[in-house]
Amino acid sequence: MKTYNHFINGVWVEPSSNAYFDTDNPYTGEVWAKIARGNAADADQAVNAAKAAFNDGEWADMRPTQRGKLLVSLAKIIEREASRLGELEVRDNGKLIAEMGAQTKYLAEWYRYFGGLADKIEGAVLPSDKPGVFNFTRYEPIGVVAMITAWNSPLLLLAWKLAPALAAGNTAVVKPSEFTSASSLEFMELIKEAGIPDGVVNCITGTGVEVGQPMVDHPDVAKVAFTGSGVAGQKIYESAAKKIMPVTLELGGKSPNIVFEDADFEAAVMGAISGIFAATGQTCIAGSRLLVQQSIHDKFVKRLLEVAGAAKIGDPMSSDTHVGPVTTQPQYEKILHYMNVAREDGATCVLGGGPYKGEGVKGNRFVEPTIFTGVTNDMRIAQEEVFGPILSVIPFDSEEEALRIGNDVVFGLAAGVWTSDIGRALRMSEKLKAGTVWVNTYRAVSFMSPFGGYKRSGQGRESGQEAIKEFLQVKSIWIAQQTSPANPFIMR
Ligand code: NAD
Repeated sequence: MKTYNHFINGVWVEPSSNAYFDTDNPYTGEVWAKIARGNAADADQAVNAAKAAFNDGEWADMRPTQRGKLLVSLAKIIEREASRLGELEVRDNGKLIAEMGAQTKYLAEWYRYFGGLADKIEGAVLPSDKPGVFNFTRYEPIGVVAMITAWNSPLLLLAWKLAPALAAGNTAVVKPSEFTSASSLEFMELIKEAGIPDGVVNCITGTGVEVGQPMVDHPDVAKVAFTGSGVAGQKIYESAAKKIMPVTLELGGKSPNIVFEDADFEAAVMGAISGIFAATGQTCIAGSRLLVQQSIHDKFVKRLLEVAGAAKIGDPMSSDTHVGPVTTQPQYEKILHYMNVAREDGATCVLGGGPYKGEGVKGNRFVEPTIFTGVTNDMRIAQEEVFGPILSVIPFDSEEEALRIGNDVVFGLAAGVWTSDIGRALRMSEKLKAGTVWVNTYRAVSFMSPFGGYKRSGQGRESGQEAIKEFLQVKSIWIAQQTSPANPFIMR
């Protein structure tokens, strides 16, 4: 059995408590590795290493072009290691190899893109209303960034933070989810191989309470970039307020996927399926509320049942599997709980609705792809994030009604619109309150495009040129062209 320690200042360090916890394979249920159980002392050690690397030495003195080159080197190493990393992710979080193999390769693009941006962070020479002064701006890194990620896509969520943060010149302490720590730890070896100096990127493991919170509260952490639940996000935001510390929060969603009667029918069916059953519904952007225009509702549901009902459930390492296991035991229980909640609130279960025990599954963590009809938008199944393969179908009559229902939720991460009317596509995309709107597609993300939430789905943006600004602060520098004694008691 493999044992993973913390990665601090370029070396593997045993946890100060000497305690470890198990990590399992969600498909088989077998424990396959032991992970260091970190605490406040470990967080302190990692933050100190990141602080020292930020303040002095090779990284602190490095020119941005060189930082960019290191990120591009890392991108090449990621491409070389992509299939190994993909398999590791599948073993640890149960997502499909069909998706993870491609995703780990695609990760490289974030490091290449932000590597390219590293030496294009430009300040400005400002016009001045004061005579005899030269005023210019410089964009500077913030310092030690704590990066905390959720269990569903550890390396992708890390890339969204680490690539722009390093391009901007910050240093990092990474804390992956206690359920899926292995891939982020293995990734540290690639960072080292790329030549990124010791201490610039550190990785500590353990629970949110035991090691995450002390890291957030550490006086030398200058920014937190977080992906996870609203509950933890709120705690981090409160802690950040005490230190007046900037945060990026990527939180949950309850995204509407809206199908109009003029849509390409089959494309919309596939879009609805991909919105909720891909990754076993364990994605923040899940299109968990399917709004279907009344005139095509029954026909659409019938086709959904045919396609979703035929989904192959089983081994995530098989390239033809469609739906894999649920990653964690608490999440498995939460999904089953929400199936009951939907029934209690009066929704009609037309597909699935319970644990899956069929052929081809091992372990005890499979649920059936589930569809509820007769859902009204005030039901808990339409308002609360499940993070699992449960689709709520909600009928609507008009564009106005679709928009009202679509926006009537506390979240605002993403939305989908299926229509062949360009005017409607534009109207809907403008009026939907979400950080991402997809028209006639769903679940597309790119290193080039900003991603983040409106409302309670978060704060700040990841990816695209917007993202680097989240890891910079601007300084205004004033230089008097000649010195002159002036009245010291009034503002200049
Ligand atoms: P979670 O909030 O339970 O945990 C996320 C991370 O935060 C873990 O590493 C955990 O250990 C840590 N953590 C928890 N409490 C903490 C605290 N007080 N201080 C510091 N760290 C703490 O979330 P999860 O169950 O791992 O992930 C699922 C959630 O993540 C869903 O709500 C999902 O929508 C969201 N998510 C959002 C995005 C996005 O980009 N918006 C992407 C993926 C997942």
